[in-house]
Amino acid sequence: MPDTSSTLQADPSNARWDRSFFGHPRGLSTLFFTEMWERSSYYGMRALLILFMVAPVAKGGLGFPTSKAGAIYGLYTAIAYLAALPGGWIADRIMGQRRAVLYGGICITIGEFCMATPGMVPFYLGLATIAAGTGLLKPNVSTMVGNLYSKEDARRDGAFSIFYMGINIGALVAPLVCGFLAGETHWRNGFLAAGIGMAFGVAQYALSGKYLGQIGLTNVGTAQDRLLFKKVLIGSAALILLTIALSVSGILNVTAERISDVFGTALLLVVVVFFGWLLTSKEYSRQERSRFWVILVLFLAASLFWSAFEQAGSTLNLFAERNTNLRAWDVKALGENGHFLASYYQSFNSMFMVFGLAPFFAWLWVKLGRKNPSSTAKFSIGLLFAGLGFAVLIPIANSTNVSPWWLTLTYLLHTIGELCLSPVGLSAMTKLAPARAIGLIMGTWFLATSVGNFIGGRLASLYESFPLPLLFGLVAGFCFLLSLVLLFMIRPMKKLSEGIN
Ligand code: GLN
Repeated sequence: MPDTSSTLQADPSNARWDRSFFGHPRGLSTLFFTEMWERSSYYGMRALLILFMVAPVAKGGLGFPTSKAGAIYGLYTAIAYLAALPGGWIADRIMGQRRAVLYGGICITIGEFCMATPGMVPFYLGLATIAAGTGLLKPNVSTMVGNLYSKEDARRDGAFSIFYMGINIGALVAPLVCGFLAGETHWRNGFLAAGIGMAFGVAQYALSGKYLGQIGLTNVGTAQDRLLFKKVLIGSAALILLTIALSVSGILNVTAERISDVFGTALLLVVVVFFGWLLTSKEYSRQERSRFWVILVLFLAASLFWSAFEQAGSTLNLFAERNTNLRAWDVKALGENGHFLASYYQSFNSMFMVFGLAPFFAWLWVKLGRKNPSSTAKFSIGLLFAGLGFAVLIPIANSTNVSPWWLTLTYLLHTIGELCLSPVGLSAMTKLAPARAIGLIMGTWFLATSVGNFIGGRLASLYESFPLPLLFGLVAGFCFLLSLVLLFMIRPMKKLSEGIN
């Protein structure tokens, strides 16, 4: 008798039919935990990054000026998300999603361990390796979630909600653990913990990969693609070596802001050229191109939203450390002098999300039924809340020792905004993109996060040189303005997307 269990195991439809993980394929649990560990590593490290860079050397930090730290923070987070574009391509053409996620996880683990090693070279090398690993892992793990289901399978949306929970459980726990281990002087313990977390994720992924059946094993690359990949790989290795040489010789120390300027210009060019091509390409029909206009508007709105929201790890992290009375919340369980740390705030967004807001919004959108606002309207609301999160800080932005409740309110408002924009945007992209360009359009979505993170980092660079009430006011003002513009665009956007919205 043939071994039916193993034949079924190798059959992709088996992975799809399975219902053993909350009614979903067991493969979803593999991807859920992989993303949970990856996000915990990402957010655990990110919670400490800017604080570590600005902390004086005597307190175990790097002693960077805030302007330099902000520039590096913006570059790192922007590149980590930008890397999703080549990361998706590499999976599609070179190695398939399965291996891309594995290699991505290994890169991240190595990168975190580098960060835990003293010295400037391991620091920059660690950042670069983590960004590359994130680009390989993040887009491809999401693609595999989608591939677990056939086009008709009604469980797909639910699967993404479960998956988003995985993201936020990781993002909730890690800043607390890494923040606690790092304290105010032992930063590298936090990075070590982030690396160990990712190592757990890699082990879990390798051991439970069998539940994914045949998903993510193939690629559609040609010999030409592989040649191109080799060339780019060699070029990148040369670039990394050059970066090491520059940082060893001290040049990189002087020019972090300059590198950031160059990168910002390049990013702007990428956006302009990319959309210019997309909107005029004869490869797409008129109807498809009119939907690309909708994508452009949503892209711009998302870029501004993430520019405000992603300041969580930069400006708002500094505001927690420098302007907030962290001693107001004693945490006696943490010991005699146990008190709240700035990094703990990084968990608030996920805490609000997991304990209440995500289920509430899932319920609300269903409840509203036909009165459910359009994607454009929801983006407008998202921007409104992003702006409100900053507006509430304006009156106290010049004060020190402010109550911890202010930032708590900001994170609550930002989480409401995120739920109006982030899942809605993901779903709108999949609906508006032609099937043959779905990977590209998903990459565009991550490009908006990349732009947002870059601007968020650059704004943190201004923390000491620009009046804070004005900085927060400007961020709020831009969000309100675009929120208003979007309100007027609800109708034209509906027309442009011809019923899809
Ligand atoms: N918090 C989500 C994640 O980490 C979304 C982040 C983003 O796209 N800016 O995946």
